[in-house]
Amino acid sequence: MDSLTLKVQGGAEEPYILKFTKHDNAIKGECNCTAGVYGKLCKHKLSLVSGSLDSLVDSEYSKEEISNFFENSTLKEMILEYAQLQENAADLKKKLNKIKNKIEKTFKNG
Ligand SMILES: [Zn+2]
Repeated sequence: MDSLTLKVQGGAEEPYILKFTKHDNAIKGECNCTAGVYGKLCKHKLSLVSGSLDSLVDSEYSKEEISNFFENSTLKEMILEYAQLQENAADLKKKLNKIKNKIEKTFKNG
């Protein structure tokens, strides 16, 4: 399988259409959502490649086929790293807010 067309239910009434093609382990992909048409990393590409298939509609492929398509690709590796960094960033943001609140309290109450 060297190409994959998937439909995902997003915010709009009509599902978004994502098309992926693969040569060796290099994957290209596009999505027709507002961000996707400008070549941005939209949440649809992100979630499909990282294996979250909950919003998939009318799929002619099994979850296993979809997952196998992205397996061992540079794209998948990068997206997993991106997701991990986002988690780290959320963690840091929590820590920042905590220390900020402490500082504000200290300014107020000594
Ligand atoms: Zn999209």
